Amino acid sequence: MVHNFLSPLTGSFAIPAAENPTVAMIEAAYRHHGLHWRYINCEVAPHALEDAVRGARAMGWMGFNCSLPHKVAVIEHLDGLGESARIIGAVNTVVRREGRLIGENTDGKGFVAALRDIIDPAGKRVVLLGAGGAARAVGVEMALAGATDITVVNRSAGRGEDVAAVIDGQTPAKGRYRPWVGRYRIPEETDIVINATSIGLFPDIDAMPDIEPDSLHANMVVADGIPNPPLTPFLRQAQARGCRTADGLGMLVNQGVIAIRYWTGIDADTGIMRKALADLGL
Ligand code: NDP
Repeated sequence: MVHNFLSPLTGSFAIPAAENPTVAMIEAAYRHHGLHWRYINCEVAPHALEDAVRGARAMGWMGFNCSLPHKVAVIEHLDGLGESARIIGAVNTVVRREGRLIGENTDGKGFVAALRDIIDPAGKRVVLLGAGGAARAVGVEMALAGATDITVVNRSAGRGEDVAAVIDGQTPAKGRYRPWVGRYRIPEETDIVINATSIGLFPDIDAMPDIEPDSLHANMVVADGIPNPPLTPFLRQAQARGCRTADGLGMLVNQGVIAIRYWTGIDADTGIMRKALADLGL
């Protein structure tokens, strides 16, 4: 009998790395689909990123995720970028294609994939709360998925204006910035409201974005990027107002699905991946 003890390698470069649950979700999918692949969680400091990427090349890694703080810094060590990664200016998934390392960004793609279970972004008007890295990725992908109008609402004007300008200038959608001063009132014509701030993330689990509760209407879809805990007070409030909702765990799982598709060509089972996270108490 011929054995093959050589596993195709994938993984993650980040610091800190120990609390990132992605490895559990991805390796559960590999096992479920009978792939003898590995996903190795690596703690990589900023000064060691170049060597880590060189090491991945030397060992023929099929690809890797990049998390904080490497999402921008990794770009100079790669051979090219996918369309949305170029517009967003950040990479969180690297894919080996014909020997070249190409940077993609699955943050926003995972969000859009999860949202599509509930609503098609095409032609929709969106309020995007936040203007950090996640909001930037979500805003660009919503625009590339056909959302026509995206209002970026953010506390600090510089970041908010910047994300609105990227959407407005580099995608087909209209992007605009609105300052977040006091309680924000969601415009009535809004179809989709997205919390892409870090408000509500563990351990701050009772915090919620400061919006006028009665400006949420039952015809709006409300999404939250916070994966832990997935049912945030913001989503609970939206559900109480009759809105359909999408949680940040769906975004996380779909990012994994997209990365696995990039690396292996297989469409992974989201149920298995979500269960792997649930087994960890997420
Ligand atoms: P950043 O630090 O880059 O951005 C944080 C954003 O939240 C900024 O817009 C900031 O506003 C805003 N913010 C924070 N606190 C407040 C507050 N009290 N009031 C108003 N605005 C506030 O973080 P990221 O964009 O990288 O991540 C944001 C969240 O997205 C994280 O919690 C992360 O867990 C989640 N995420 C989820 C993923 C998933 O797969 N589910 C993937 C990636 C991220 P300002 O600019 O004014 O400071």
